[in-house]
Amino acid sequence: MKELSHYINGEYVKGTSGRFANVYNPATGEVQAKVPLASEEEMQSAVDIAQSVQPDWAAVNPQRRARVMMKFVDLLNRDMDKLAEALSKEHGKTFPDAKGDVQRGLEVVEYCIGAPQMLKGEFTDSAGPGIDMYSMRQALGVCGGITPFNFPAMIPMWMFAPAIACGNAFILKPSERDPSVPMMLTELMEEAGLPKGVLQVVNGDKVAVDAMLENPIIQSIGFVGSTPIAEYIYGKGCSNGKRVQCFGGAKNHMIVMPDADMDLAADALVGAGYGAAGERCMAISVAVPVGDETADRLIEKLVPRIERLQVGPYTAGDDIDYGPVVTSAAKNNILGLVESGVNQGAKLVVDGRGFSLQGYEDGFFVGPHLFDNVTPDMDIYKKEIFGPVLSTVRAGSYEEAIQLAMDHEYGNGTAIFTRDGDTARDFAARINIGMVGINVPIPVPLAYHTFGGWKKSVFGDLNQHGPDAFRFYTRTKTITSRWPSGIKEGGEFNFKPMD
Ligand code: NAD
Repeated sequence: MKELSHYINGEYVKGTSGRFANVYNPATGEVQAKVPLASEEEMQSAVDIAQSVQPDWAAVNPQRRARVMMKFVDLLNRDMDKLAEALSKEHGKTFPDAKGDVQRGLEVVEYCIGAPQMLKGEFTDSAGPGIDMYSMRQALGVCGGITPFNFPAMIPMWMFAPAIACGNAFILKPSERDPSVPMMLTELMEEAGLPKGVLQVVNGDKVAVDAMLENPIIQSIGFVGSTPIAEYIYGKGCSNGKRVQCFGGAKNHMIVMPDADMDLAADALVGAGYGAAGERCMAISVAVPVGDETADRLIEKLVPRIERLQVGPYTAGDDIDYGPVVTSAAKNNILGLVESGVNQGAKLVVDGRGFSLQGYEDGFFVGPHLFDNVTPDMDIYKKEIFGPVLSTVRAGSYEEAIQLAMDHEYGNGTAIFTRDGDTARDFAARINIGMVGINVPIPVPLAYHTFGGWKKSVFGDLNQHGPDAFRFYTRTKTITSRWPSGIKEGGEFNFKPMD
């Protein structure tokens, strides 16, 4: 059995806690490795190293720090296939999807090459007689990140790239379900010129997370994962005086207006609902057709598309639409929710129960499901399913549809499909959700914009990547300096205050 390690101070270091978690190959159901779960002492050793190297890293000029990012981009491109292969093997997503995972992280690294521009600060010359005032952005020190299983390349890079470009040291606690790629990324950062210890990976579970939250040296915590854990980490991190941003779960609605291009809407729903086996925080999990006629037309278009979906292991080639879900527990949770939908009276139009793949009977594959006539009181509507299950809630009017999305506790992403500009504009203006698509089902902002939801999908003030990342990973210091040299305010004009 392969035993994975931590990545501390530039080296793969074996775990010493004696605790391990299984890492599965979701396509076969086999345990392919075990990953060590760190103790408090192991976390402390990484924190000590980070603390010792961070001041020197912060003293490296921003342009040289940015050059590490430039080189890292080259290395990501060089090793793209290798990274994607390791990612698919632990996560289960298709090979093109795994490359997309690396690519969307890479784009944030590219954005961080602009760190010198973002960190420039502000200057007011002659704010008073002989007085200059300037603001600078300084690194926080040692920062921590806790990431989910579903984007094991992208989300770590969203965090560590800006943190490190700003001059911080970073300790990553990736998901214990697919920990290999984050360690490969750390090795590549060092190959790109990052000094040892500036980026480290400590694998683990709640023990490692609590050790981070309690550690007074760690100045900030970034978290992405489910809402209950986000809420816990935000509360505990803030009460321990840290800067914290936590991104949680989602239930993304797509409203389909009667005037929408129904083929476009159906294609979009199939990609956004079933791609990556529905394991995306920006997946569409609720379709909201407006009017029964729209609903009937939509369902008619959806059913054959869903039935054509190819489910299989990443090794089966690029025609596969989605792979297995990450664990048998995830599979059981999804199928349990499907059962609840049936029991609570929703109509299961496409029934993926009993799906089995020849040769992969022990894999964590879940067939695609489509529900119609879902109502807001049902568990399949209220809960995040995080699987290939699309629920249809029929709305009587546009007002009813927008209100439905507004009333849901989650507010990560949403979309509307329509040909009417007034409706689209009204939707964008009124909806209380952070990322909005207009005829775009998965409106993930590009690296130079910021990413973040509203309501129970986020805890904290600043979004991920874009300019917010540079705000999150720095502190502003404002200096007022006076060098009395006989210069009078207003020079020779010598204005009186109210002139
Ligand atoms: P998760 O909450 O189970 O785990 C996330 C991280 O928290 C992991 O590193 C895990 O080890 C750690 N963790 C788990 N239980 C913990 C506990 N009790 N105490 C402390 N730490 C704990 O989430 P997941 O299953 O890995 O990821 C899926 C979830 O992430 C979904 O809810 C999805 O919507 C969400 N997600 C959100 C975004 C976003 O940007 N909003 C992006 C991706 C995923």
